Amino acid sequence: MLVKKISYYDEFQCLMGECPQSCCKGWRIPLDDKAIRRFRNEKGLWGLRLKMAMHGKVQPSFSPYCFRCPFLRMDGRCGMQLKKGEDYLAEICRIYPRIRFCPGNYTELQLDLSCVHVAELFMKHREEQFFVEKELDEEQEQTGDNDDTEYLQALDESRGQLMAAITDASADGDPDALGVALKNVVAYASTVQDKMMREGVDEPEALRSGFDLSEETDWLPECFPLPIALINQLMSTDFYQDGMQYVLPLLYKLCHMYYRRFDKLSYEEGEKEWNRLFRKHIAGHPERVKLYAAYYNSHLLRTYMECYEDYSFFKHTMTGVIGLNVIMLFETLWREKYGTLSEKELARIISVCERRVYHNEVVEKELMKEIMKEKAKTA
Ligand code: SF4
Repeated sequence: MLVKKISYYDEFQCLMGECPQSCCKGWRIPLDDKAIRRFRNEKGLWGLRLKMAMHGKVQPSFSPYCFRCPFLRMDGRCGMQLKKGEDYLAEICRIYPRIRFCPGNYTELQLDLSCVHVAELFMKHREEQFFVEKELDEEQEQTGDNDDTEYLQALDESRGQLMAAITDASADGDPDALGVALKNVVAYASTVQDKMMREGVDEPEALRSGFDLSEETDWLPECFPLPIALINQLMSTDFYQDGMQYVLPLLYKLCHMYYRRFDKLSYEEGEKEWNRLFRKHIAGHPERVKLYAAYYNSHLLRTYMECYEDYSFFKHTMTGVIGLNVIMLFETLWREKYGTLSEKELARIISVCERRVYHNEVVEKELMKEIMKEKAKTA
């Protein structure tokens, strides 16, 4: 089978006890059906520990309030893996931070930037957001049940076109050009989704028709930077939690930097301040425009093909814009305060933002609600 791996895939190795931001803290750990059955069948003290650790009746998880996995030991190692071996773990713990997409006739292997070491690899290989292809003998289990190969091909082509548009827009380091491209990508995705879901247009036709990224879009907010009012909505959701100071102290610190700077300002004042900070940051670091474009392309590479199963074009393109803006905001605030930011520090910022923006259903839903309100206002 043809296997496509993100260019730096084979460089990943878990930092284990040396990890500065363990993935066993700061989010809910969803359990798969096989693991739930396995854990529920355990007897004795171990069975009791498992039952006490599992929360929720329908689809139980560990760490439901996003604190720490009860099996994480003080030395940073996984107590469950040490006791029972890797095969015993829930699927998410076994495969994370690897992402596998196998629609049937080929497989894509990628890495999730919510892992701090993957974020470091992304920084190092920011200009290598492409797949390395290899024909392998091994079979891969299919990840969904859609078998429309024409749709799959059109989706892959459209992802390539969107990524090329983002790369082109960032080539001269012009933030406004990148802003227009981001907005057009989201508008295109929204149009495709409407054509498929509301007008009943066939998937390949909807994806291929009207691919015009230069069209003006008036219902979307500016995407680079996003209005501060929208970012403020994010901060008022589950994105921030008091307990974060123990499990994701870096994000806690970043959120407080934001509150200190913006809390006392009206929306108008906040917007002015945000734009001032943004322009100053980009003027001092014009190379960042390419990095942010690479980040968005990495997001498309990792999430766009999910539309093959869920048809959520708008969500997958918009969450990337939100994540990018939050990362940029925190980078800006950090530089304002400390004057400098190392690559490793930025990798840690990327990793915590990924955890809270993309792996948090409440945040995602709340944000989408706000954007849809904007859309309704202008419709
Ligand atoms: S965040 Fe990444 S490097 Fe750290 S423990 Fe988890 S998988 Fe390993």
